[in-house]
Formats: sequence, C-alpha cells, structure tokens
Amino acid sequence: MPTSYDVIVIGAGTGGYVAAIRASQLGKKVAVVEKQKALGGTCLIWGCIPTKALLEHAHALKVVQNAKEWGVMIPYGAPAIDMKQVHTRKDKIVTGLTKGVEYLFKKNKIDWIKGTARLMGKGKVDVFEGDKQTLEAKEIIVATGSQPRSVPSVQIDHERIITSDEAIHLKEVPKSLAIMGSGAVGVEFASIYRRFGSEVTIIELLPRLVPVEDEAVSAELEKSFKKQGINVLTSTKVTKATASSTEVTIEAQGADGKPLSISASLLLVATGRGPVTTGLGAEELGIAMEKGYIKVDEMYRTSVPNVSAIGDVITLGTGVHPQLAHVSSMEGVIVAERLAGKPVQPLNYEHVPGCTYCDPEIGSVGLTEAEARQRGYDVRVGQFPFGVLGRAKMAGESEGFVKIVADKKYDEVLGVHMIGPRSTELVAEAVLALRLECTVEELIKTIHAHPTFSEAVAEAAHATHGAAIHM
Ligand SMILES: Cc1cc2nc3c(=O)[nH]c(=O)nc-3n(C[C@H](O)[C@H](O)[C@H](O)COP(=O)(O)OP(=O)(O)OC[C@H]3O[C@@H](n4cnc5c(N)ncnc54)[C@H](O)[C@@H]3O)c2cc1C
Repeated sequence: MPTSYDVIVIGAGTGGYVAAIRASQLGKKVAVVEKQKALGGTCLIWGCIPTKALLEHAHALKVVQNAKEWGVMIPYGAPAIDMKQVHTRKDKIVTGLTKGVEYLFKKNKIDWIKGTARLMGKGKVDVFEGDKQTLEAKEIIVATGSQPRSVPSVQIDHERIITSDEAIHLKEVPKSLAIMGSGAVGVEFASIYRRFGSEVTIIELLPRLVPVEDEAVSAELEKSFKKQGINVLTSTKVTKATASSTEVTIEAQGADGKPLSISASLLLVATGRGPVTTGLGAEELGIAMEKGYIKVDEMYRTSVPNVSAIGDVITLGTGVHPQLAHVSSMEGVIVAERLAGKPVQPLNYEHVPGCTYCDPEIGSVGLTEAEARQRGYDVRVGQFPFGVLGRAKMAGESEGFVKIVADKKYDEVLGVHMIGPRSTELVAEAVLALRLECTVEELIKTIHAHPTFSEAVAEAAHATHGAAIHM
C-alpha cells in the first residue's frame, strides 16, 4: 500500500467516509484511517441505524398488538418481542450497510488503513495497529466523532448504569428502565423499551421533553408518552445514582424542589456526547480547541494549515454545533470540494432538519415560534392535526400535528415543526421550503397528493392563512 496521499481522512463515520468518497470522485488519492473493525462510525454501528432498526421492531410489535383492530388473527396468546431475533435482524442490517461502505471504498479506490491515527505535523500521520506506520498527505481531514458522556454526579459502569452503546445490545428487555435526558437518544430508547414491555421513567432537567423543539411539540410528546404509560419527570435533577447487583437507585430533586428516589433495573445516561480527541495529537500540533472540540472556521479549516475537521468533533465557536449524521456528511462534501478547488458556500445551520424517531416521530426545521418572536418577527402560526387526514386514519396513526411558523410581513416560512406519523420524512419538504425562502402562499399553491400524510403540510399552510379546508 502507498504511504503518500493527496488526502488522509481520520475516522470513517458519516463525516469521514463521505468526505473520502467525494474527494476521490474529484480526482484525489485518498486514504481513510479507521480503528474499528467496520466502516461507518457511530451512525452505522451504534447510532442511527441500529436504533432505528429497533424502532421498526417496536412499530411492528405495535401493529401486531392491535391485530384485532386490523382484522389479523393471532390464535395463541399475546404477541411479545423475541430479542434474539431482533438483534439478528438489526445486526444483519448494520453489517449490510458497513460492508456497503467497504464496497464504496473499493469502487472509489480509497485505501482503508486499519488502526489508530495520531497527527504528527507537516502532513504526517502515524498509524498504530501492532506496528507503527507513517503516512503522508497534502491535506488531512479529522473526523474522529464523538462518544457518550455523563454528568459529574453519575458514574457510568456499562452494566447497570449504561449508555446508548449498551442500550442497543441488551439481550433481554429490562423490567424497568430509567432514562436520564430527553433529547433524541433518550426519547427514542424510551419509545423502544416501553413498547417492548419495560416500565420506563424519563428524567429531564429542563421543564419539558425534547427541549430544543417547539413548545407545542414537547407538550404533544409528553401527552403521548403519558398515554403510553411512560413516567415523565421534567424539571428534575438527578443528584446521585448507585448501582447494586440487581438495580440502580437514582436520587433526584423533583420539580417541587423535594428529594425523590427512583429504582430501576437499568439507568440509561443520555445526557449528550463529547468529542473524541484523546491521543490524536491535535493539541500538541497546536490546533486550537474549545472544551475538547476542534475549533474550525465556516469552511472547516482548523488553526493549523492543511488540517481540516468535520462532524461531531468540531465546534464553529458560535452556538451549538449539531451532532447529526447528515450534518457531518454535508460538511464532508464541502471540505472535499474545497480541497479540490471547487466553489463552495458555508452551510446554513438554521436549515438543518432535526429528526427524532420516537413514537410519535418528530421532524422540524427552522425557527420555533418562541425563537421567531425573540428575533422580533411579526409571527403568525398555523397548525393542522394528522388525526383529520384520511391517510392517517387508514394507518391508525392519528396523533400529532404540523405547525408552521411564518413572518406576517413577507409571508416567509420561518420554521416547520411536526410530530406524528412519517414526520421524519415529511420534514424534507419543509427543508426545501426554507432553503428556497418559500412563502406560505407557495406552500398552499403546491399540489399535495391525496390521500397522503403530506396533506397535513398543505393544510397547516392554509391554517397559517387562517383558512384550513378540512377543519
Ligand atoms: C444512539 C444514537 C442515535 C443516533 N441517531 C441519529 C439519527 O437518527 N440521525 C442522525 O443524523 N444522527 C444520529 N446520531 C448522531 C450520529 O450518529 C453522529 O452525528 C454521526 O455519526 C457523526 O459522524 P462523525 O463522522 O462526525 O463521527 P463518528 O460517526 O463518531 O465517526 C468517527 C469515527 O472515527 C474513528 N476514530 C476516532 N478516533 C480515531 C483515531 N484516532 N484513529 C482512527 N479512527 C478514529 C471512530 O472509530 C469512528 O468510527 C445518533 C447517535 C447516537 C449515539
């Protein structure tokens, strides 16, 4: 294998592998250093793919549990989940996709260098796996991603106090599961294990679930979770967690300021993820860092020439950088194109779709109603419930709504927030609407097929003008 490249990418997650493919498509000689035994990083191995596979199992169980309503006969006993088969199917999906990335590397003549990379300066990267080898490149892209992290009061032991990495591999459905944090990871696992049969308690420090979403979405999710029998504790601060051989005792301060104690078979810590830079040699090379993240400019240049960084490991120094697979991939494309001398534009982080695959699903993009008001817009909103739609009734999925936040003066769509069936798919139309600076009127004039879930978007647009047709 050669030791000299145009571009070396460190990390083969959705940021790194996409950057590598794009750079290769543009004529660069590319190598990717990856320390795991498979390509694809967090998203393919521990994140997006296995969790959504589990959610599809939960959905299948939901349909079967309602068999009577669907006119499906199940002659013997109540339906239950078979975790062995769940994992077999999930692992088959994960392996198929990671092997797919390997195939794409071969197709694009990208070398996969197996091992752990360390930046050595002047375009040099040392790779450790058994022996050390030194590679050289004109450009280096760091895409080392993120890993779960806890809060100081809670020590993860990976057995009873676990992270999402363990939660996707549980061999048995826990009798009870407490979840700390109600971001995407927390509420997705709450949906999965509640449907599989666990008693689930979700503990959130802030006053509402999914705190980054529009307040109406948070309220709808809380309503649905409570209906499903999930115990929701908001404005609650975990102060201590102690594991024994059989359970975890969680001490917390409740919304009323009083102490409370919760026992559960397992505690899932879903309080966020921190950057992976240990042993990378970034600081030694003089790369500017912020709270462990690599600082980059809007074109993903670090403070050291010819070293770029993308994905979960970066901070742009302004606001929170979204740790999402599609964001890392888009950043990978931008960097690869910049290195190939193509004209590139900075990413508009206000147009990043947020998808949360809990039950009911959430899809959102742009400003929430509160954010739009804070920015001084003369805001008007329209909301339309899925339950009214024929398509939703057929699917037996009638929870939730689509809400549009618009500027009254120019009629511009500022944000779209949906919770309900297929919201993670429907949000794509809203992302395009924001990118094209679409007006509400244009959404109304766009023909939405019947009967579809997408009619909720059209109706929400009508509602924003005060005239929903079917309500
Ligand atoms: C449970 C869960 C569910 C998620 N669901 C979604 C979702 O539905 N949609 C979504 O958009 N996002 C989701 N995410 C987030 C998403 O997975 C990440 O944002 C995305 O994977 C980030 O990609 P990345 O390339 O920056 O880093 P990563 O995917 O973390 O990849 C980094 C890679 O670098 C390798 N590496 C690190 N250091 C070195 C080194 N020194 N040498 C060699 N290799 C190294 C690692 O082994 C890893 O493979 C989820 C995350 C989790 C945990």
